Amino acid sequence: LNRRLAEFGTTIFAEMSALAARTGSINLGQGFPDTDGPEEIREAAVRALRDGLGNQYPPGPGVPELRRAVADHQREWYGLTYDPDAEVLVTAGATEAIAAALLALVEPGDEVIALEPYYDSYAACVAMAGGTRVPVTLRPHEGAYVLDLDELRAAVTDRTRLILLNTPHNPTGTVLTRAELTAVAELAIERDLLVVTDEVYEHLVFDDAEHVPLASLPGMRERTVTIGSAGKTFSFTGWKVGWITASPELTAAVRSAKQFLTYVSSGPFQYAIAEALRLPAAYFDGLRADLRAKRDLLSEGLAQAGFEVYRPAGTYFVTTDIRPLGADDGFAFCRSLPERAGVVAIPNAVFYDHREAGAPFVRFAFCKKTEVLEEAVNRLKRLA
Ligand code: PMP
Ligand code: GLN
Repeated sequence: LNRRLAEFGTTIFAEMSALAARTGSINLGQGFPDTDGPEEIREAAVRALRDGLGNQYPPGPGVPELRRAVADHQREWYGLTYDPDAEVLVTAGATEAIAAALLALVEPGDEVIALEPYYDSYAACVAMAGGTRVPVTLRPHEGAYVLDLDELRAAVTDRTRLILLNTPHNPTGTVLTRAELTAVAELAIERDLLVVTDEVYEHLVFDDAEHVPLASLPGMRERTVTIGSAGKTFSFTGWKVGWITASPELTAAVRSAKQFLTYVSSGPFQYAIAEALRLPAAYFDGLRADLRAKRDLLSEGLAQAGFEVYRPAGTYFVTTDIRPLGADDGFAFCRSLPERAGVVAIPNAVFYDHREAGAPFVRFAFCKKTEVLEEAVNRLKRLA
């Protein structure tokens, strides 16, 4: 393994899902739903396969049906207009979108600012691009995680190329407010930065939280690459269908990198996701309502089990502080949790450069059946 990747090893998600399988534990670690997405969309994929839609290499930028559906979705939900031919690119999940965007836009030595804790592939992709990551830490404050805008501002240097944003935010469940995003936008414009914004959890927001796409703020459309994923929005993480929307220049740049990573993404699933993006609002409302109830169930259960809980405004993850349980090392806690309680979770420290800042935090996923969450809570109560 080369020096750029040597520090990364095996992803925590693979490690923890293997641990869950080995110990027969309830897997609240890796974030994937235990119920597949809509039947009609599965049928659409079967139909595409049978009808020979996408069984051979689809077009590099993605099938036109899906590109049009992505553009229509951005317009209908957020009033953002993108040209499906020049400004939409289909990728092999958001994971490839992140990699292709960073490989396309970062020069060796460039600095990339990312909110810490950050999704694990960000650090690895910045490294593959030869860039330097500059984490800005979201800090727990009164039951939520907050972005210190002064810290963000202070992190920008003459070498900063781009800000890698994520809202709704994995693992903390933070949804950046319009005011916070406006400050990020002003900074990006003032310092002439690009922003790659990972919005894969755009539809998973609860209560009063509102997902505001960064590209919708004044002056940002031209400097923003927005990333979406069917894995999260439609509960098909195994299909690996993602996309970016951006200006023609930025889309062309990301496409240049993407064509040498996978060239194209899996064909029949693209046709099915094109249909999924046109599901009525009731689908999206239903997904949100279901996950909100599960968030409440797991958050309350974890609190009763003795954890301090950061109730998420978005995503399907809840971050907890384990110190009330007399522990302060999330790694050790998660490695012993299968034996102690038959549950698997993720230590947030893996998402930090400042590992000590993340040490006492542990993430649980709630995109699981109600009875699975109830059983997990019952088991976790043994810890108290
Ligand atoms: N970004 C974030 C913040 C994620 O949580 C995930 C899913 N784990 C991804 C990107 C990757 O998405 P996909 O499965 O579409 O590659
Ligand atoms: N995004 C998912 C999570 O955060 C897992 C994705 C993966 O396994 N790479 O849990």
